[in-house]
Amino acid sequence: MTPWDHLATHEAAVLQTVFWSAGASRLALADQLAYSKTKANSVVAGLLDQGLLEETGLQGSTGGRRPETLQLHRDLGVLIGADLGATSVDVAIMAPDLRVLAHHAEAADVLSGPGVVLSRVRALMRQLLAQCGKTPAQVMGIGLGVPGPVDFAHGMLVNPPLMPQWDGFSIRDYLREDYAAPVFVDNDVNLMALAELWRLKRSLPNFLVIKVGTGIGCGIVCHGEVYRGANGSAGDVGHICVDAHGPRCHCGNLGCVEAMAAGPAMARRATEAALAGESALLAECLQNNGVITPLDVAQASRQGDTAANHIIQDAGSLIGQMLASMVNFFNPSHVFIGGGITRIGPLFLASVRQSVYKRSLALSTRHLDIQFTPLAEKAGLVGAGVLALQETLKQRGAAA
Ligand SMILES: [Zn+2]
Repeated sequence: MTPWDHLATHEAAVLQTVFWSAGASRLALADQLAYSKTKANSVVAGLLDQGLLEETGLQGSTGGRRPETLQLHRDLGVLIGADLGATSVDVAIMAPDLRVLAHHAEAADVLSGPGVVLSRVRALMRQLLAQCGKTPAQVMGIGLGVPGPVDFAHGMLVNPPLMPQWDGFSIRDYLREDYAAPVFVDNDVNLMALAELWRLKRSLPNFLVIKVGTGIGCGIVCHGEVYRGANGSAGDVGHICVDAHGPRCHCGNLGCVEAMAAGPAMARRATEAALAGESALLAECLQNNGVITPLDVAQASRQGDTAANHIIQDAGSLIGQMLASMVNFFNPSHVFIGGGITRIGPLFLASVRQSVYKRSLALSTRHLDIQFTPLAEKAGLVGAGVLALQETLKQRGAAA
């Protein structure tokens, strides 16, 4: 039994606000929650007494008494974040302010199925907890990102094209055997969106996050919240058609943007160019390594290889074509592009921008900012931590 189990609704609201503002003063809290100063002071005093909040140093002040910075108490417990990619797993133990206490990443293959992948994730969680001297009982919440459509309410994947064996498998029930803490599962790109939202302290209410890796997905932040849609599949943009005569996608349709511009498509085109004698650099890479990865294409492009430049520009342009429709439809202030593609570099980003600006309506692009995700590879794990803490607090607040 922890103090955590008896949260009143307004206490949960204050804890959430402190978490999202990454340190806050009583005054700022009162402001954000539309509480009177007296109410904010008394809720905060109660939370300090229960050891749920702590005061850490002083904030800069505009005059008068300097207000204390509040944050979630560091002894509150730890969060576990896990980011499952198509080809990798990342697991971290985090403090309540999302500082990483222990972290491990390794290659994995989601196609080997939930039994194999999750038993490894479970072992890593145990090992990392032990490494920072924590026990399963000290875990407050667990957040997990997966590369496919998720039924968020039930914590399971639904008909995931990249990982068919995971269909209907309850990740939540699987991890429940080890932990009393709640487990939350979400699509990996939704977690990237949550991570950016947290980094920005919710200062941008409407933006998109595009992940380009093995597949292509989009996280939607609308009115300061991640928007999941009626069934949790909002932002599944990878199968938008960008060429009716394009190659067949694994979903069965022709010319999906994912089939033409994601990592595997770039690698395939580079292999074709190498075999057709269009690029000495790519041919050399194929001969030495047996395969060409998107990063090899980027490397060749940086050395001025024309075929590599074309592949990157075409991918950027097709993704921009899809994105232009999103921008016209949703009118975001920012688009953040993440996933493995961020390491491809500026030529890719320039092609995306050019394609979006050419096709979008003037009004929706007048102030549009398109950039790589500032959190880069960390976005997935940070998002898993945000998910774990935010949803745990919501649940505790609602149960009060
Ligand atoms: Zn498709």
